[in-house]
Amino acid sequence: MPIDATQAYDDTNIFARILRGEIPARRVYEDDHALAFHDIHPQAPVHILVIPKGPYVSWDDFSARAPAAEIAGFVRAVGHVAREQGLVAPGYRLLANTGGHGGQEVPHLHVHLFGGRGLGPMLAR
Ligand code: 5GP
Repeated sequence: MPIDATQAYDDTNIFARILRGEIPARRVYEDDHALAFHDIHPQAPVHILVIPKGPYVSWDDFSARAPAAEIAGFVRAVGHVAREQGLVAPGYRLLANTGGHGGQEVPHLHVHLFGGRGLGPMLAR
């Protein structure tokens, strides 16, 4: 079920538990502001999720409330992971599903990083 992007942050969500090390994930990068790990159900040869370490429900919540240093750190981490994965020359796609129409399932902001093949049209037709 998609989440309500205006809901309060719930620190029992699955990505909060991954951040706390309570459940495993195939981690690829971590710094002060962000953690990146492989999606459990990859939809492309490379499908990585990048999450901020702070408690933000969605892109809306993050962009409205996060301090500038956290926003900069998170954006830089996404770019760093894409470079580290060798995705810049072939190209890649970022996606941040937000709330009901966005189809967001996990109520902790995550950016999907897709690559490894031509990704086709931006939305299903
Ligand atoms: P959303 O639809 O919220 O944008 O995407 C949530 C993503 O999280 C999905 O692609 C789903 O496969 C992934 N996911 C859900 N639970 C887990 C988990 O426990 N571990 C990992 N690594 N990915 C998960």
